[in-house]
Amino acid sequence: NGNRGHVSHADAITSNSIAHADANTSKKKKVVVLGTGWAGISFLKNLKNPMYEVEVVSPRNFFVFTPLLPSVTCGKVEARSIVEPIRNIIRKKNIDASYCEAECIRIDPANKKIYCRTARTAINTNSKQGEEFAVGYDYLIIAVGAQVNTFNTPGVEGNCHFLKEIEDAQKIRRNVIESFEKASLPNLSEEERKKILHFVVVGGGPTGVEFSGELRDFVNQDVLKLYPLVQHLVKITVIEATDHILNMFDKRITTFAEGKFLRDDIDVKLGSMVTKISENEISTRAKGSDKTTSTPYGMVLWSTGIGSRPLIREFMKQIGQGNRRALATDEWLRVEGCDNIYALGDCATINQRKVVEDIAEIFKRADKDNSGTLRVKEFREIMKDVIARYPQVKLYMQSKRVSDFVDILTEAKGNAAKEKIELSIEEFKSALSVVDSKMKNLPATAQVANQQGAYLAKCFNRMEECEKNPEGPPRFRGTGRHRFQPFRYRHLGQFAPLGGEKTAAQLPGDWVSIGHSSQWLWYSIYASKQVSWRTRALVVSDWIRRFIFGRDASG
Ligand code: FAD
Ligand code: MG
Ligand code: MG
Ligand code: MG
Ligand code: MG
Repeated sequence: NGNRGHVSHADAITSNSIAHADANTSKKKKVVVLGTGWAGISFLKNLKNPMYEVEVVSPRNFFVFTPLLPSVTCGKVEARSIVEPIRNIIRKKNIDASYCEAECIRIDPANKKIYCRTARTAINTNSKQGEEFAVGYDYLIIAVGAQVNTFNTPGVEGNCHFLKEIEDAQKIRRNVIESFEKASLPNLSEEERKKILHFVVVGGGPTGVEFSGELRDFVNQDVLKLYPLVQHLVKITVIEATDHILNMFDKRITTFAEGKFLRDDIDVKLGSMVTKISENEISTRAKGSDKTTSTPYGMVLWSTGIGSRPLIREFMKQIGQGNRRALATDEWLRVEGCDNIYALGDCATINQRKVVEDIAEIFKRADKDNSGTLRVKEFREIMKDVIARYPQVKLYMQSKRVSDFVDILTEAKGNAAKEKIELSIEEFKSALSVVDSKMKNLPATAQVANQQGAYLAKCFNRMEECEKNPEGPPRFRGTGRHRFQPFRYRHLGQFAPLGGEKTAAQLPGDWVSIGHSSQWLWYSIYASKQVSWRTRALVVSDWIRRFIFGRDASG
């Protein structure tokens, strides 16, 4: 109750200040951005139009370059090298932008307001929670990311490390070093030392695999010299529920990684589910069996996937999106069922429209002469629009061109005298339905979040045009000129560092490269992708320092 009173008080203040701002800055549209991660920062960096007043709200006043987080866990890179303060980024903007260190706790789309809470400060210890206040918006950009998913496994919370934030990486690093110190204490039995030095990684995805590789490197390169007496007692176990580690990658990479881990003496337990984690033991059950085994451990990293944040779960209920995995948007990143609210990055997923759903309309437009059939020429003509509107077509075609596509479609008709072939709507539909089967949710990666942020900023930069076109970005039934194309993801490849200066790379066009050369490719790409020259210089000097002097093993 006291809280509610407080909020309405804050409300009054905010609406006052909005009124005040309105009077001064004449109708600048207020854009509120939630989150300072990949999606939020990419949006901010690419927003250029001075018609907006931007307010960034996030509990974290810095951006984290997440691909290098695993490198922080064992000291290859320093934590401060991969973060960039949000105020450094804002300072460089030529548009009206500000930052507010708070967490959004509720969204009120009807009144175009969000409710926020500041972090609890150490000085203010008698208040359980921070201050609450409200912020009004014209446009809301939700980019709050996701949180670790424990799948409600008992004991995960409280006994496991996660690797999501910079603090997590620092904690892991301290814990790894502490483990070696503890195991080196006198008066311990061999069993006790073994237990302390048993590192378990739950989840064989890129993060878990990379951490295992980092840890193995640390043991081989530094522990050997620093803790020679316990080095041989180290054990690293990776527990994966499916049949392979890195199963989102090409089979060749999976096979290579599994082979490398075998040689590196990293124990990979496939088809194994974690059922419970107690203070000293981790219990697993093999797929298809009901026997659980318990193993003593020293440290567990839990990295099995992500789930929605409470804010997003609540918001989905509120707007009738029910129990989805993530907030659904259309292909222009607009949250379904809301006005002026956009969502991107890990907190959102795009509801792609199926070609088959619109097949009658497409056919009608293509069939210019109303003959009830499509000639190849008509077909080819309409495909240009179809490709622009439905990204799955491009995905299906990969490197193919429209003419190849025509070949595929006309094959059913015996491939005779192509230009004479006529397609009925049924044939047209069955040919195009294969395309929809190629629809896939985009992965929760920095690459996607980054591209979505840039895309949305571009739309915002051209918002005036958009407003003249109140339907918003044109639908398929529009004029055929696609001024605001739906968001398109361009996959630039994916890396899986495996330790030992070896990295597997899967690049577009099915190009797989594994080994030292891709490690260097990785170094150079990540150096070039750093958000600022400051962090770029820091990361590169960390790498060089490690090459020359080894890791810093002070906890
Ligand atoms: P985030 O980057 O997580 O940002 C969310 C932001 O929202 C944060 O600033 C957070 O503080 C803030 N926030 C949270 N709650 C609230 C709230 N209630 N109100 C306001 N703000 C809030 N991807 C790749 O493409 N390549 C890689 O090599 C790669 N490696 C990774 C390694 C690790 C260890 C991890 C954890 C992830 C990695 N990823 C990688 C995935 C990538 O980091 C994510 O997909 C990406 O961060 C998603 O961006 P986002 O902006 O949606 O969320
Ligand atoms: Mg973000
Ligand atoms: Mg981030
Ligand atoms: Mg997403
Ligand atoms: Mg016709």
